[in-house]
Amino acid sequence: MEKQAKNSNINIKKTVLTGDRPTGRLHLGHYVGSIQNRIALQDKIGNSIDNAFYMLADIQALTDNSDNPEKVSNNVLEVAMDNIACGLDPKKTTFFIQSCIPEIAELTVLFLNLVTLARLRRNPTVKNEMKQKGFGEDVPAGFLSYPISQTADILFCGGSIVPVGEDQLPVLEQANEIVDKFNSIYGETFSRIEPVLSNAPRLVGIDGNAKASKSLGNAIYISDSYEEIKRKVMAMYTDPEHIHVNDPGKVEGNVVFTYLDIFDTDKAEVANLKQQYKKGGLGDVAIKNRLIEVLEKIIAPIRQKRLELEKNPEKIMEILKQGNEK
Ligand code: ATP
Ligand code: MG
Repeated sequence: MEKQAKNSNINIKKTVLTGDRPTGRLHLGHYVGSIQNRIALQDKIGNSIDNAFYMLADIQALTDNSDNPEKVSNNVLEVAMDNIACGLDPKKTTFFIQSCIPEIAELTVLFLNLVTLARLRRNPTVKNEMKQKGFGEDVPAGFLSYPISQTADILFCGGSIVPVGEDQLPVLEQANEIVDKFNSIYGETFSRIEPVLSNAPRLVGIDGNAKASKSLGNAIYISDSYEEIKRKVMAMYTDPEHIHVNDPGKVEGNVVFTYLDIFDTDKAEVANLKQQYKKGGLGDVAIKNRLIEVLEKIIAPIRQKRLELEKNPEKIMEILKQGNEK
């Protein structure tokens, strides 16, 4: 009974740990998949949450970018600024850089003994990303084992609440296997990890690909200009059979409607537009124009705040330095 109570995190103080790989600027998938939940969780500090940490995962980014260290180091500040511009508050959430905390690497070495190579190869996220990157048998050992170091990222600071996108669920499942195995061999030490998903846990790419991703270059970035938003929305995948305005159109799998469902707050109007589109008589340009304005309304204040932050990179460096020390 006692063991069960510990494992289900009853009466245990909760710490949030989340992060991004500094491999490029952040996009709307990050915003709706994870950042909005990070912001909601930092506002629960003092109530159900004790502490919140935000990590720039530069070591993890190197696992598939070892030949391009500049890309990783240059993006540390960019990704930190993206999060602050969205509303993650360094006064509430502690920002830190993975490579500045050697204890994470130490813990990773211990965890490496608890996971088999076969299990790593079976992880659906790793499998999928390996395919996407074309690694085949020549996968770097560091990349194959990133779920292990990600487990150390979460556990070293006592983290258990992890706001993530859906693509990370298999990684957290594997992390919990490590927690269980460690606890059963060495005694109750770590709490099980609870993923926190949003209501848009996997935003599709503008090309209709299953996931908007920095690496696939199919995303609208939260720092994009109005012109970039316009260009990307105009290029969005809709219904290839909807050629003339009067043709009946498909709503399922139509990226413009997928985005309107997530980002447009006027649900009744979206339902109305869907009906018109299905019947015929509503053109792609009309729904795209609506989406452009909906997205601009969300992105404009973020872009504005980001431009302010860009003027003072030393201030961001100081935030990261203080977070590393903490
Ligand atoms: P990379 O291609 O370098 O892996 P990425 O776009 O997948 O970049 P990450 O830094 O790996 O971004 O992910 C950071 C967080 O954002 C994770 O919690 C991930 O699940 C979430 N996330 C990333 N892309 C999406 C998406 N399209 N929809 C919802 N959540 C997402
Ligand atoms: Mg990723």
